[in-house]
Amino acid sequence: MDLQKNFEQVLENINNAARRAGRKPEDITLIGVTKTVNEDVVRDALELGIKNIGENRVQEIQKKYDTIREDDDSVLHLIGHLQTNKVKYIVEKVDLIHSLDRLSLAKELQKRCKKEDTSINALIQVNIAEEESKFGLKEGEVITFIESLLEYDRINIKGLMTIAPYAEDPEDVRGVFKQLRELSQEVEKKDYKGVEMKYLSMGMTNDYEIAIEEGANMVRIGTALFGERIY
Ligand SMILES: *Cc1c(COP(=O)(O)O)cnc(C)c1O
Repeated sequence: MDLQKNFEQVLENINNAARRAGRKPEDITLIGVTKTVNEDVVRDALELGIKNIGENRVQEIQKKYDTIREDDDSVLHLIGHLQTNKVKYIVEKVDLIHSLDRLSLAKELQKRCKKEDTSINALIQVNIAEEESKFGLKEGEVITFIESLLEYDRINIKGLMTIAPYAEDPEDVRGVFKQLRELSQEVEKKDYKGVEMKYLSMGMTNDYEIAIEEGANMVRIGTALFGERIY
């Protein structure tokens, strides 16, 4: 695995996709997804300039936390499903949660943040394709969900996230990304207090170029940087 070479290739693809869409490459945040990757590789990634690190499990965040924070510029993203009973381990550790998907989780985040006198940044996870196997709200539930979050003053809504279905040809999921972007524009128009639609987290190894063409400004990339995962 040649991380530097992979990184350069991903950056070039991001640049090209951004240019095709008439967007600025620097507006797109690359999140290196380091799940299953060991601490030495995480350190290499940070050193190369991959400052945004994404993990999907709380346990792995706890294990790698000190390594990640050796770099003062590191930004830590929780991209996976968050169990309510794990909230206490990540508040004040994680910079952005990508997987806010239910009211019970919001309640727990609010409670824990209040207790620690802090706040948390979160994206709402939307299951655009309504896949059984995936977490996330249905598209039609998002507006009502956001309205019910308005009373939670410790949660800063910063945007939306989705995971597209796997497709042999990523062109087949372009519509999913387009729908998420349109939903974010719809939310933005409502101008809710304390709700920002700043980030659109969509696109993984298989489909990030299409996602960028459709407006993604956060892409979550594991395999293209670190190789196939061995569980
Ligand atoms: C694992 C994972 C990724 C990265 O997947 P790759 O296909 O390896 O790039 C992105 N987002 C989420 C939520 C993940 O769990």
